Amino acid sequence: MKVVKGIMVSPGIAIGRALLFSERRRTVPAYDVAPDLLPAELARFAAAREQAVRELEVLQARSPAGERQAAVSQRRLLESQILMLRDPDFAERVERELAGERKNVEWALERVVAAITEKLAGSGDEYVRERSADIRDVAERLLGHLLASQRPALAELAEECVVVAHTLLPSDVIAMDKRRVVGLAADSGGRTSHVAILARSFAIPAVLGLSQLTEHARTGDLLIVDGTRGQVIIAPDEATLQQYRAGREAWQKHELELLPLSELRAETRDGKLIALNSNIEVPEETESALAHGADGVGLFRSEFLYILPNRFPTEEEQLAAYRRVLAAMNPRPVTIRTLDLGGEKIIPGMKLGGESNPILGWRAVRFCLSRQDVFMAQLRALLRASVHGNLRLMFPMISGVEELDAVLEVLAEAKRELRQQGEPFNEEIPVGIMIEVPSAAFTSDILARRVSFFSIGTNDLIQYLIAVDRENERIAYLYEPFHPGVLRLLKAVIDNAHGCGIPVGMCGEMAADPYAAVVLLGLGLDEFSMSSIAIPEIKRIIRSVTLAEAEELAGSVLEMKSYRDIDRRVRRWMEERFAFITSI
Ligand code: PEP
Ligand code: MG
Repeated sequence: MKVVKGIMVSPGIAIGRALLFSERRRTVPAYDVAPDLLPAELARFAAAREQAVRELEVLQARSPAGERQAAVSQRRLLESQILMLRDPDFAERVERELAGERKNVEWALERVVAAITEKLAGSGDEYVRERSADIRDVAERLLGHLLASQRPALAELAEECVVVAHTLLPSDVIAMDKRRVVGLAADSGGRTSHVAILARSFAIPAVLGLSQLTEHARTGDLLIVDGTRGQVIIAPDEATLQQYRAGREAWQKHELELLPLSELRAETRDGKLIALNSNIEVPEETESALAHGADGVGLFRSEFLYILPNRFPTEEEQLAAYRRVLAAMNPRPVTIRTLDLGGEKIIPGMKLGGESNPILGWRAVRFCLSRQDVFMAQLRALLRASVHGNLRLMFPMISGVEELDAVLEVLAEAKRELRQQGEPFNEEIPVGIMIEVPSAAFTSDILARRVSFFSIGTNDLIQYLIAVDRENERIAYLYEPFHPGVLRLLKAVIDNAHGCGIPVGMCGEMAADPYAAVVLLGLGLDEFSMSSIAIPEIKRIIRSVTLAEAEELAGSVLEMKSYRDIDRRVRRWMEERFAFITSI
């Protein structure tokens, strides 16, 4: 039995057999291919090369920027692998082998790679010798695609499994067969990564940031994914297994106990009514939002519509998706955020420009403002959808007044177009912004005069405020929502919004943290938006306290100097009142 510690990202306990997602294939089949089928083999080879290049480009876009040795060598490695995949000589050698021997392409590839690596291995130069490992790596990636042993395999699974991977992409989670995947475990990723967010949306227990799990786990190993404590146990002994089976039952029972709360309102004991909304990534999730008692959708991350088909969706396709969400939730409000592409939200195969610092780069409204064709299609679809329900429109990553005015101008243009074309839409559609860039937070008194609501995106706001990459497991300890700097800024944003008479919500992951709920309530937050599964627990907490005591707690922590002290104080406060708190 081996226990590997990681970062808890989606609660619950999963017990199942591991499926190593990027497992390397060792056996390469060899079979004869009839001459008329050779073109099909060549086409398979070209497609595998294309897929491999796209994957490497995704890794490239995610590689750390900067001049540190590790970052530079990682970028060089990926670059040289892409060059090899694009090298016409390499492709020709494989094609010659294939045509000459009339065998399958995997076999031809293996032969060519063996010949190259053998030659390199004989070199007296160490650097040249090491290049053979790179070539092997590229060959394995190609074989993975050719033998369909990699990413596509997750869409159809024969039996239940825990998916284990070095890196998972959001699109992997979207594509995977979620009836069969009982748990997720990956070496990389953090609490607010999009894989984490998706795992919570689909209620799949998950632990990320496990660093070296793929070194230890093998396909078929029995695994426990403890999403509540943030650890994975490989080959558990009988006693541990029993204990976890009992734990899984207790967790399920706790979930069931919370469900009746879905009928009740999120109201404090002294009568402050809070809106508890769902964050959704795909239209199908409205079902879960309603089942968990959501008052509305506080954040529909529309970029997931863009991830699915690997191209930009048309206006009509978007309209259909938005209508579905609005109709399902009607008359509850649905907040749809415009495209937040870029940064860590990349779409495999879509080029965003190879920036050295994409998190600070061409993303979200910055991308949309320079791709007005894409932006207009979305705004038109949103406006047209507004007659089908209670739609609120929200812009991400606004950094200041000029940017806000620029997007409002495009919105006004979209409205003008629709009016001219006689297309109906809600002229009074509420327009809000995310507060997730520190400069917006600090100018929230100015921004509040121009919009109908704020929604605080703590995932990015904390990332930018503390200068801590939200996806980097090595520095995850710095990602601290209770940092006094964060709490002070939240207070300022909420006060500024209230000063202008507009409500403030929060749709970052902090809103789903039961330990933070009372503090946020005391700071004056009006709406909380989170993965649907987190709603009942937060509702239970809100219904158990008074606004007055929440304000007192918030006031006292605002006086404190370090996040450790704040964390200790809040934990004690919460644990004195709540026996069973399930942090997610
Ligand atoms: C956030 O930044 O807090 C947020 C809700 O947006 P996303 O996680 O999609 O960046
Ligand atoms: Mg964000």
